[in-house]
Amino acid sequence: MAAIAPEATSRDGTASWLDEFLADWRPGTGESREIREPATGRPLISVAQATPEDVARAAAAAAEAQPAWAETSYIERARILHRAAEIYEAHRDEFGAWTQRETGDHRNKMHHEQNFTIQEVLNAATMPSQPYGSLVPSAQPGRLSMVRRIPVGVVGAITPWNSPSVLGMRVVAPALALGNAVVLKPDPQTPVCGGAMFESIFREAGLPEGLLHIVVGGADVGEAIVTDPNVNVVSFTGSTAAGRRVGELAGQRLKKVSLELGGNNAFVVLDDADLEAAASAGAYASFQFQGQVCFAAGRHIVHRSVADAYVERLVERAKRLRTGDPYREEVDLGPIVNEKQLARVDGIVRRSVEGGARLAEGGTHDGLFYRPTVLADVTTDLPAWTDETFGPVAPVVAFDTDEEALALANDSEYGLAGAVYSRSLSRGLALAQRIKSGMVHVNDQTVNDEAIIPFGGMGASGNGSRFGGAANWDEFTQWQWVTLRDEPRSFPHPY
Ligand code: NAD
Repeated sequence: MAAIAPEATSRDGTASWLDEFLADWRPGTGESREIREPATGRPLISVAQATPEDVARAAAAAAEAQPAWAETSYIERARILHRAAEIYEAHRDEFGAWTQRETGDHRNKMHHEQNFTIQEVLNAATMPSQPYGSLVPSAQPGRLSMVRRIPVGVVGAITPWNSPSVLGMRVVAPALALGNAVVLKPDPQTPVCGGAMFESIFREAGLPEGLLHIVVGGADVGEAIVTDPNVNVVSFTGSTAAGRRVGELAGQRLKKVSLELGGNNAFVVLDDADLEAAASAGAYASFQFQGQVCFAAGRHIVHRSVADAYVERLVERAKRLRTGDPYREEVDLGPIVNEKQLARVDGIVRRSVEGGARLAEGGTHDGLFYRPTVLADVTTDLPAWTDETFGPVAPVVAFDTDEEALALANDSEYGLAGAVYSRSLSRGLALAQRIKSGMVHVNDQTVNDEAIIPFGGMGASGNGSRFGGAANWDEFTQWQWVTLRDEPRSFPHPY
């Protein structure tokens, strides 16, 4: 049984539908781990962690249940997904409260997360009824030749804490839709909105037993998923460092793996940009959700003639953003998720200022609440430029020509998202198309997603995999070539 702190009930103090589910939820046989709310440090829930043996049991049960699910009518699979979306909507407030309290989401980010989570399920619900192959010509006369997509079997999903519902749902929903079973491991800091939420919804939606398993735990549990012989495909979202390890383990086992990793995204402002609009978007892309977003704007690359004015506008916005407890107060920024991450953000800011960057705003914190920070006169040798900060920090670098802006934008091992602001669409497009990133926007900021878009990065941001839309077919099915002949084929003598 998961132990819930008394306050983890609905806002009016009554036990919610989700709390009742959690009271009987025991996702692992290992030791309990207490989760604390980052904003207050108060205990939220204690959850029994999974062990590698739990993973083995879950994967074996998933492998057993999956073939019958793959044979289940497309109408029934779609119906269960539709029900899941309805159940999520019905309990939206409870999920929202848990999301805010586990992650430190402010209200806007939480609503985005919820809307995207629903989009993911609804989009997945359209997949079971889509054609899943084609008839192809054959060089052999009299042969009917077809290629069809079949489920991969068991998908192992490993997700981070920063957007646990949507990053989990973008795997769980399409994988199930296409006839697979799933073993999902959320980050141990978000066991409810990244884990229990899925089990509670899909159980109530009528998903047959054995098809979805939640295993809560850390790296050892993640590695047990990657190496388990019953897990056929691994879908990992998280840091580049952990992704390299996951890729290595999967590669040794010749296992297909999707890696969606970190970013240090370029936000380019040309001299003809609408500066107010660019600064508003730039501040949003760096500061919202405390910058703990893989496609946050990590590097502001601004034409020298407007750089000072742009920095001033970022500073104005940084000053007026309110930090505080996002669940109980009306604020714009919540806490950094934990002490380790806080030390990392602060260290990057400090070392960059020591190295010559000008602290135009912020750089201070009250406990885990880090003030939105603007760094001007940044040079490309400083950690604020080279590293993924994953905090509310906007480093600004000036350039003189479009070619220089392009070289700066591409001066990163990462390649997740990019943005270009210009009043000239042709100039903006010419630059945007040469930015090495999986996603790029002209006159919009980097934090953009839709369930029907093939989402993913280049370079150290991933291994070429994509989530969303048609890409989900590539991630969660494999091709099979099937041929049929009326008459058996004859072979030359002596065969
Ligand atoms: P993390 O890599 O530490 O953890 C992510 C998940 O991987 C967690 O569930 C964790 O328990 C697990 N894990 C850690 N080590 C593992 C190992 N050796 N084997 C298997 N599993 C392991 O990342 P984080 O700090 O929680 O998340 C932030 C990072 O995730 C940032 O770098 C961010 O950019 C990235 N991210 C990327 C995307 C994307 O779509 N590209 C989305 C969100 C976050």
